[in-house]
Amino acid sequence: MEIVSIPTSSIDNKEKIRIIKSEVSRINEVDFNNIAFGKVFADHMFLSEYKDGIWKNHRVQPYGNLSLSPAISALHYGQAVFEGMKAYKDLEGNVKVFRPHDNFIRFNKSAERMCMPQLPEDLFMEALDDLIALDAAWVPAIEGCALYIRPVMFATTAEIKVKSSEEFIFAILTCPVGPYYPEPVKVIVENHYARAMEGGIGFAKAAGNYGAALYPAKLAQDKGYHQLIWTDAKEHKYIEESGTMNIMFIIDGALHTPSLESKTILEGVTRDSVLRLARDLGLEVIERRILVEEVMEGIKTGALTEAFGTGTAATIAQITTIGYKGHDFELPPINNDSLSSVLLNNLNDVRTGKVHDKFGWMKGIS
Ligand SMILES: *Cc1c(COP(=O)(O)O)cnc(C)c1O
Repeated sequence: MEIVSIPTSSIDNKEKIRIIKSEVSRINEVDFNNIAFGKVFADHMFLSEYKDGIWKNHRVQPYGNLSLSPAISALHYGQAVFEGMKAYKDLEGNVKVFRPHDNFIRFNKSAERMCMPQLPEDLFMEALDDLIALDAAWVPAIEGCALYIRPVMFATTAEIKVKSSEEFIFAILTCPVGPYYPEPVKVIVENHYARAMEGGIGFAKAAGNYGAALYPAKLAQDKGYHQLIWTDAKEHKYIEESGTMNIMFIIDGALHTPSLESKTILEGVTRDSVLRLARDLGLEVIERRILVEEVMEGIKTGALTEAFGTGTAATIAQITTIGYKGHDFELPPINNDSLSSVLLNNLNDVRTGKVHDKFGWMKGIS
């Protein structure tokens, strides 16, 4: 493997974003009350290209296929990172994006780990602004729905050699979406496969993490579970995440969640938001290593009353059942007073503008 210098350009050449509008909108073909997650794309997408150390040729253009060499290194060596965030319509119909700056920071952290160039903040934010403003009609005004925003960066140098690419594309796609899990979820503790190990890329939203998770997730789905609970790669003793969500437990009335120290856990924006809302409600929040055995014991004794996943796509996914060593452990039923329901409602109220956004999470679109 050849050692190359890391492309670290954050030069913003201040080139303007060109807007190429689609001649016809596809919006009337979409049934907003019944959308499959991630299959319907809004009219436009954003694209920018990195070459010779700078990002250039920024444009918003009609959503459509790209023409690329089959030799691009993203395909062969997995140099690709992405993000996920959502735009909402508030009660007055204003479009706002939830905490995009946090996603921007994480995008660049992921890019650094994958030896990819940094993206200038202005470019990320202006691209988002121009794209969402143009496709504002695609932001559903329906409760539980949102416009899912998918920034992605991938390596486009066409060269069959393991080394960092010199060229990249940054794109933003958007999809109107409904609820990710229409019902509470059944999960199973994974004690063979691992998602991430220390020193690896677990903290990055790097494409390869997800490809590697598909097979263990499929095995779990074949057994009737929606998702896995990932455990640490060394001993499978400690809880890490659930699928592509962070995981939280209510034990003796306090909120417990795995701490981020190991760097094998993705630092979720939803995780941080839920922890802040929980502290704001006066709940005790404890970030620490959590033993699988402790969770199973908590279910048996009744000390553990709730378990849920947090993530942009699903927001809060309440867990009803945890499979472990061949047995299914049922959690107590969830109702509107459950802490996870209260936290979910509080989060939704901020997003839809029903309550004051005291943390300054919502960013308007100009
Ligand atoms: C994206 C993701 C999350 C959730 O992060 P959010 O910022 O809340 O969407 C959690 N775990 C993994 C592995 C993820 O990819």
